[in-house]
Amino acid sequence: MNRLKEYYKKALQNHFALGAFNFNNMESLQGIVNGCKKTNAPAIIAVSEGALSYIGDDFIIELAKGAKASFTHLFLHLDHGKSFEICKKAIDLGFDSVMIDGSSLKFGENIALTKMVCDYAHKFDVQVEGELGQLKGIEDNVYASDHHFTDPLQAKIFVERTGVDSLAVAIGTSHGAYKYQGEQTLRFDILQEIENLLPSFPLVLHGASTVDKELVDKFNSYGGKLEHAVGVPKDLLIEAIKNHNIVKINTDTDLRLAMTMQVRKVLSENPKEFDLRKYLGKGREEIERVVMDKNQNLLFSANKID
Ligand SMILES: [Zn+2]
Repeated sequence: MNRLKEYYKKALQNHFALGAFNFNNMESLQGIVNGCKKTNAPAIIAVSEGALSYIGDDFIIELAKGAKASFTHLFLHLDHGKSFEICKKAIDLGFDSVMIDGSSLKFGENIALTKMVCDYAHKFDVQVEGELGQLKGIEDNVYASDHHFTDPLQAKIFVERTGVDSLAVAIGTSHGAYKYQGEQTLRFDILQEIENLLPSFPLVLHGASTVDKELVDKFNSYGGKLEHAVGVPKDLLIEAIKNHNIVKINTDTDLRLAMTMQVRKVLSENPKEFDLRKYLGKGREEIERVVMDKNQNLLFSANKID
């Protein structure tokens, strides 16, 4: 069995979640790897289509190889694949898991596309995540102005017809650094309905960065300008992990903020600095710190390796 599938099962039974950490260069990946290694936490290393084209196929594969050689409980995942072709490419390259995001399509089309990816992926024992409902916010340059919450009945039909291994649900999280304008809530009632219809099925939350105020304040104090940035409150995420079936939590924004904050700090405090290792190295350390904190205090994935 795919080891990631086994970890999802374990996460369901023991109420923890795997961090799905997006990386965009070598240092961000190394920060994630070091953070997971130091906390003995299984995790998903994720690349978006944008990151794949930014880094390049060959480099992604070799970077992931290096990451896994350093810590074997890491799984390479394609985040938000929008077509069969991109998912097939990732599967052929040796990814452990792919997401097919047909959430902007009509229900029937989303089912057909997701099933096609599942049928192909499962021949190679690759895990597939689908998505139903739409998150607010910006993601790889596509902006959605409103939430479309997941319909629980549709979720059941979707899982049955596609054979998908996990499902990303829309219950009020959103992509980007500006997650809420009003009250910071999640629709646990919808989540519970989904779980009633799909007991013990692995569910996923996207757009789940916490955008900690301390980090944003530091970012701004070194010349940044992120006003009113707000993330998902930590206690809501813990509730989703501890009392529900969320087994994968996606984090991109928090890692970008962490690295960029340190780059800003080093460059603003040392205007003469031009050694890449000095500022990217600090960025890498900050990502490691954030990943360790999440594994220990939010996801409870620390010390959960088999
Ligand atoms: Zn996402």
